[in-house]
Amino acid sequence: MSAIHPRLRFAPSPTGYLHVGGARTALFNWLYCRKHGGTFLLRIEDTDKARSTDESTRAIFEGLHWLGLDWDEEVVYQGAQVERHQRDAHALVASGHAYRDFTTAETLERLRAEATARKEPFKFDRRIAEYPQAELDARLAAGEPYAIRFRVPEGSTAWDDLVHERIEFPNKDIDDFVILRSDGTPVYNHAVVSDDIAMGITLVMRGDDHISNTPKQILLYQALGAALPQFAHLPMIHGTDGKKLSKRHGATAVGDYQHLGILPSAMANFLALLGWSPGQDIEVMMRDEMIARFDEHKLLKKAAVFDPKKLEWMNGQHLSKLPLDDVLPRVVPALVAAGLTTDADVAARAPWFRTLLDLLRVRARTIDDLVRQATPFLRDAIEYDADAVAKQWADRPATRDLLDAAAGVLAPLPEWTPAAMEGATRTLAEVRGVSAGKIFQPMRVALTGLGVSPGIFEVLELLGKERALARLHAAVRRLGEPV
Ligand code: GLU
Repeated sequence: MSAIHPRLRFAPSPTGYLHVGGARTALFNWLYCRKHGGTFLLRIEDTDKARSTDESTRAIFEGLHWLGLDWDEEVVYQGAQVERHQRDAHALVASGHAYRDFTTAETLERLRAEATARKEPFKFDRRIAEYPQAELDARLAAGEPYAIRFRVPEGSTAWDDLVHERIEFPNKDIDDFVILRSDGTPVYNHAVVSDDIAMGITLVMRGDDHISNTPKQILLYQALGAALPQFAHLPMIHGTDGKKLSKRHGATAVGDYQHLGILPSAMANFLALLGWSPGQDIEVMMRDEMIARFDEHKLLKKAAVFDPKKLEWMNGQHLSKLPLDDVLPRVVPALVAAGLTTDADVAARAPWFRTLLDLLRVRARTIDDLVRQATPFLRDAIEYDADAVAKQWADRPATRDLLDAAAGVLAPLPEWTPAAMEGATRTLAEVRGVSAGKIFQPMRVALTGLGVSPGIFEVLELLGKERALARLHAAVRRLGEPV
């Protein structure tokens, strides 16, 4: 590792919500810093006052907090740095790397229209702005508005991208671009470079839609006499149809996934695999493992695919693998919101709730799944799942008879323990000459209404004797009714 202390930044524009693509970029910058002992910075690029909103800035903070991506220094607001942007632009004029351009908007418009009429792309020819020095001085003295344009030198601009390796652009393809508009506001490329230099950024990691900006930015670094950072351009994120991820593909805001019951660690894990692979087929990683394994040399070039099914799977993995204490604060509010319990009830029966949720979480992919599976344990009445009934209660008279018999052997048990229940029901199976499953599966439907649940004795124990027997009796009654 280099001796340079890494300083990286995430630099979102607060013009909407925190998009999953932005969150992925933030995550990779954060992982790099946590891995290499670097400093992770947040810069809100709010120079576009018309489009930037406080609400969007808040959504960015919230999304990053939720994902656990903490930044190390005070947030930098780009809009507050405009004086420095202007100073840097004027310094470039003074050093001859940039020049004042008094061309009016009307002239530019006309030149653009002429180029379009010739079916040519408009290219700014620096001679347009060239006037004798005396005239330039006079215009300046008269207070005429001007933009500041960068004087793109001859040659070519190249860098060794951490992801894409060597990238080279001939400078002749780059127009003398504006760095400061005539109203004194900086353009993106200039503001970013001025800020990245001031913030001591050593590695710029961002989406590869910015690759075409990088040569301009490198030219600015060189002209300002600043050391170049490294660059890493992360692959785009596509939907499963291979098209750029957009709202057509479903939720694209990080906040939406929070509300859909996705765990933050699962979301982070899923995002980490969009453009990075730790190798060895490793996919499920908790936060510390993700940091330990993160390797910027294993960033991928090809577009990543955002597959919501995989996110759901990942969520299931995290639901079952995280410490229970990390899962409960996410699940309990969902149970309360579903009207299944109250915080007071959870507090009063904490061990019972812990056992229940610990048993259910290994079979759930989402918090919604968990809520659904917890429902029969928290309500008096249950709903029978039609598929489970069709499958496990197909022979109604025989099922009715077996469930009646099961209730009969369970009711007299002096102790409501798994061992006692198992003994009684297995003996019943033997006496009836059926496999134990022939009794357990219909019982599961009778007790929970569902086709999947924790082990049948765990279910019986969690429900308690009274409720369990009442459900068996209710099933027997139901099976006796005409279909
Ligand atoms: N505000 C820019 C964006 O959101 C930042 C790009 C960069 O990291 O330089 O795309």
